[in-house]
Amino acid sequence: MSTLEIKNLHVSIEDKEILKGVNLVINTGEIHAVMGPNGTGKSTLSAAIMGHPSYTVTEGEILLDGENVLEMEVDERARAGLFLAMQYPSEITGVTNAEFLRSAINARRDEDDKISVREFIKKLDEKMTLLDMPEAMAERYLNEGFSGGEKKRNEILQLMMIEPTFAILDEIDSGLDIDALKVVSRGVNAMRGEGFGSLIITHYQRLLNYITPDVVHVMMEGRIVMTGDAELAKRLEAEGYKGISEELGIEL
Ligand code: ADP
Ligand code: MG
Ligand code: MG
Repeated sequence: MSTLEIKNLHVSIEDKEILKGVNLVINTGEIHAVMGPNGTGKSTLSAAIMGHPSYTVTEGEILLDGENVLEMEVDERARAGLFLAMQYPSEITGVTNAEFLRSAINARRDEDDKISVREFIKKLDEKMTLLDMPEAMAERYLNEGFSGGEKKRNEILQLMMIEPTFAILDEIDSGLDIDALKVVSRGVNAMRGEGFGSLIITHYQRLLNYITPDVVHVMMEGRIVMTGDAELAKRLEAEGYKGISEELGIEL
């Protein structure tokens, strides 16, 4: 079992403190959701985990099986088993999707254990079928001219191909129609298992109708203010964030 542990994490952007002491422990085999109103620091949390340079950690720790993630470069974090689906995936020119995926898989493997072309194609074909992706998507340049929905689907393909230990999925549901949402959820659900843990960040409860989280955290004003099971997401659906903010006396 692997563990991703976030301890008393404080993060600032341009000297403004956004995260004010976040504590979170995710084990493989678990799917956690972080929900919260806009501007509360959810994307800041995912950016800090992946080491985005604009986000300064001023206090606290991020540990992956006890190893200090904050000391790792971005690519080291990926090699250590962390995966981040960004809210706005960037375009990389000149690299096809398939080339990118194969090098991303091999980056996590030893020299004598690289994925063979045959094995790679078989795996790619299998995952693209599951995600209802046309074959041509593999040969397109990464994210270039992809629609919003295609980018999201492609991120889930990356997730399934790279098979990280932990995936931080920020707003993977934003801008998706219901069919795309189902496909994306199917991919995440297929990843569920002993060797995989995930932190799903979402503003809306909708996604959690398709991916049932084991643990739900509510974030407000840069802190996790409440933790519960999937029922907590239902409560938010019914009451909005107002119910909890009033109960806890937090002004939004
Ligand atoms: P969420 O994902 O919960 O909507 P964010 O983590 O994106 O929240 O943002 C948290 C706060 O940080 C917001 O008040 C936002 O305005 C601020 N913020 C985000 N990015 C920047 C930035 N690059 N520069 C300054 N402030 C930022
Ligand atoms: Mg936002
Ligand atoms: Mg966000």
